[in-house]
Amino acid sequence: MSRFIPPGSTIGIIGGGQLGKMMALSARAMGYRIALLDPNEHCPCAGIADAFIVANYDDEKAIERLAQKSDVLTYEFENVDVDVLRSVEEAGMLPQGIKPLWTAQHRLREKACFKKAGIPFVPYTLISEPTQLAHAVIEIGLPAVLKTISGGYDGKGQFLIESREDLERARNFVYHNGECVLEHWLMFDKEISVIMTRGQDGELALYPIPENLHEHQMLRSSLVPARIRDTVLEQANEMARKLAQSLSFVGTFALEMFVRGDEVYANEMAPRPHNTGHYTIEACSVSQFEQHIRAICGLPLLPIEMTGAAYMKNIIGDDVHDYTSREAHMNGHVHLYGKNEARPKRKMGHVTYTALSYEKLIQMIEEKEKESW
Ligand code: ADP
Ligand code: MG
Repeated sequence: MSRFIPPGSTIGIIGGGQLGKMMALSARAMGYRIALLDPNEHCPCAGIADAFIVANYDDEKAIERLAQKSDVLTYEFENVDVDVLRSVEEAGMLPQGIKPLWTAQHRLREKACFKKAGIPFVPYTLISEPTQLAHAVIEIGLPAVLKTISGGYDGKGQFLIESREDLERARNFVYHNGECVLEHWLMFDKEISVIMTRGQDGELALYPIPENLHEHQMLRSSLVPARIRDTVLEQANEMARKLAQSLSFVGTFALEMFVRGDEVYANEMAPRPHNTGHYTIEACSVSQFEQHIRAICGLPLLPIEMTGAAYMKNIIGDDVHDYTSREAHMNGHVHLYGKNEARPKRKMGHVTYTALSYEKLIQMIEEKEKESW
């Protein structure tokens, strides 16, 4: 049964990065108040929270204080300590649940979850000791990628092994980072993702699938709808449905996938709104953030409609300075997250272009972003 949280109530958000900020903006538009927990007093969401607790994600007392100020809680970030959330989940305050978080935080649990749900994924093996590597690369095949079991994001915590010459450095990586998974590096045709929202009564709303371009294992841009065959589209949506059913999460959720020919493989999941779903803000009848707030507040989900095509490009590091001119705002919807320091590989904002046709969109991207798709 869904628990209805009426507008005027307070939503407590754990994590004040850009995802927390965009959740908060949607929630405020709907009449909710925001309480926030983040360790950084200058985080993107700071300026739009009604109450703000500056504390670490593993600070149990701080989570308790956040819960006292809130009617419902949500997280925007997967590295929150699951143990500190247990009591708020038991109190019925965390509809999103801790199981999706617990699963997504740990690459072995994530793969076990894919297996249980009957979702194909890339072959991998567990590496507990650096000495296992030489044999494992023969089994998995090169190229291969080492990924830390937990804590990785935006390509951090990964080491690409292209040839046997990289083995010594790979052993060092394992020595310093501890247990890893070694995955075959798939020569895919495309990366795609399914963004979906599941309501408290189990209804599922799937968004049009974006195709995603990564640079140095970090998302660069998304084009929607993905240029994929219907059979691939159906497979991807079916995999997403299986995952939704198996995890029975509540809220907006994403499944990243690789496409090779007619085959679709799960890469990883995110138990929260996703970077590749930012296009939904301008291009869909309901954004991934509004739909997320609706789900956790026990409101009915809205049907998802999209006309035309959209392109979203991340604004990374110093590129942010190019988006403060008047000209940069022509045609594109610029979102700047308000991070105080533009470090390399840091997501500073994004820009979304929408058009009624692919042709118009592609023309716009070529003109404005000097990119060809
Ligand atoms: P992160 O948590 O950093 O997003 P991912 O596992 O999603 O970690 O890896 C980031 C990106 O690296 C992927 O989106 C993809 O472009 C590339 N990548 C990761 N694993 C593989 C793989 N097994 N084969 C090919 N590309 C991969
Ligand atoms: Mg990823």
